[in-house]
Amino acid sequence: MAPDPFDRHLFACAIAAALADGPGQTLTRGLGLSALSLAALIGRHFPRSSSLLAGLSADEGDGCLAPEEPDLRSLLLEHRSRGLVEEEWLAHVIARRALGANHLWQDLGLTSRADLSALMRRHFTGLVKLNGGDMKWKKFFYRQLCRREGVAICKSPNCEVCADVGLCFGAEDGSALVASPTMSDLAQGRFIANQ
Ligand code: SF4
Repeated sequence: MAPDPFDRHLFACAIAAALADGPGQTLTRGLGLSALSLAALIGRHFPRSSSLLAGLSADEGDGCLAPEEPDLRSLLLEHRSRGLVEEEWLAHVIARRALGANHLWQDLGLTSRADLSALMRRHFTGLVKLNGGDMKWKKFFYRQLCRREGVAICKSPNCEVCADVGLCFGAEDGSALVASPTMSDLAQGRFIANQ
């Protein structure tokens, strides 16, 4: 099956964001992917960008940088919609980029929260249903993980009377952190020009 253009866009944005992480970071570490998985992703979606793989060693890109990272990967994969390998890659990428300090859509290199919601609708439909109130995605993920552990993080039993409602459900406005690759960039494997 040919790669989906929206999926290609998602990965291009994430790669552009990881490349912008700065010196000392490797692409595998920035994306939470093993060298083997990254090679498979690049080969499938960006065959003209094999130069991204130059010098890649078998580092521990898919190791865990935080205790909750494997739990978030698992949460995502338990709710995958299509059984695609892209969903395995996205689960790793989302769990790694969720450790960033910005809105998740920004740290994924996307242009808006709408792109992240579209990603979730396409690949993790079960979580979209669980997030019927449209909570901020990062908040929602960690609230789900805390619930599983029996940890109470909410200040109120009811969102409608909770003082934190703005933190959980407020707008996730902001500017994109990296320039979004165009379709022409993608066709030519030129998203690295956004560094
Ligand atoms: S608004 Fe309050 S009750 Fe609702 S999810 Fe957030 S912290 Fe929990």
